Amino acid sequence: MEKVGFIGLGIMGEPMALNLLKAGFNVIAYNRTEAKADVIIEAGGENGRTPKEVAEKSDIIITIVSDTPDVHDVILGENGVIKGAKKGSVVIDMSTISPSVTKDIAAKLKMENIEMLDAPVSGGDVGAINGTLSIMVGGNSEILERCKPILEAMGKTITHCGTNGMGQTTKLCNQILVSVTNMAVSEAVLFAQKSGLDGGKMVEATKGGAAGSWQLSNLAPKMIDEDFAPGFMIDLQQKDLRLVLEAAEEIHLPLPALSYVHQLYKSNQANGEGKEGTQALYKSVKRLTPK
Ligand code: NAP
Repeated sequence: MEKVGFIGLGIMGEPMALNLLKAGFNVIAYNRTEAKADVIIEAGGENGRTPKEVAEKSDIIITIVSDTPDVHDVILGENGVIKGAKKGSVVIDMSTISPSVTKDIAAKLKMENIEMLDAPVSGGDVGAINGTLSIMVGGNSEILERCKPILEAMGKTITHCGTNGMGQTTKLCNQILVSVTNMAVSEAVLFAQKSGLDGGKMVEATKGGAAGSWQLSNLAPKMIDEDFAPGFMIDLQQKDLRLVLEAAEEIHLPLPALSYVHQLYKSNQANGEGKEGTQALYKSVKRLTPK
């Protein structure tokens, strides 16, 4: 069985690494803040002191860290994966980052005979804990076949989307879909309420038809109950929307609806609501209307 290196034991990474251990893989784990690796070691994993050391001890190296510069650092940095990885090993980056930087990283790894898959995920911490993530993969299909047993220990739906960068591009499409739909749901809830219609009735009557969506079923009831506790935080969503807008800029593509949602989330952040769930978009829409 291939040895799996795991870099980044945050909200997502820790349960994903635990699922790999449960599936019987040898896991060599690294986290920048070392103490966070204790859970993995207690569960039977091994510790690596740097991404380089993790790569030296592994055949497949997974990274799931915060943002584009962080992935660049742990893979190509001074003590990065590239400094320790064996020829023929594979890096699977499961963070959500820039598609174009992903392509550059893959090209630099390829020059050292190291393969790469970009494999960002959706499904949140619940999907990570339950091993039911949706995984969107960019890269060579034979490499994906080799890595499938590893991905299957963490996710339920694994889709090969194309060459390197296309997994990240798919994830950014996912973020356009969830954000712009959230905007429509916020407007519909507010429109119902301002018109004297019970918001719950509106959701009940529309969710089974053509207007149905995950956002309508799950976020509209929270908007109605004024429950703004995070499932997915606005601050995190904004990082992804920034990635979408940067990638759209690179291809000179206007995204007016997404840009508008990004600005409204900015208003949430300016109002101290960045740590609230994305359903708090409703509050920004509400603030646009007179009392
Ligand atoms: P998180 O809990 O904030 O964890 C981030 C991890 O990255 C931590 O282990 C952190 O180490 C590490 N890290 C950050 N910068 C680093 C650097 N420069 N060098 C080394 N390690 C670094 O974040 P998360 O929620 O697990 O998210 C991780 C990735 O998954 C992100 O790209 C996110 O967009 C994506 N994602 C998240 C969700 C979600 O619901 N949370 C869903 C889908 C996708 P320290 O412990 O030392 O800070």
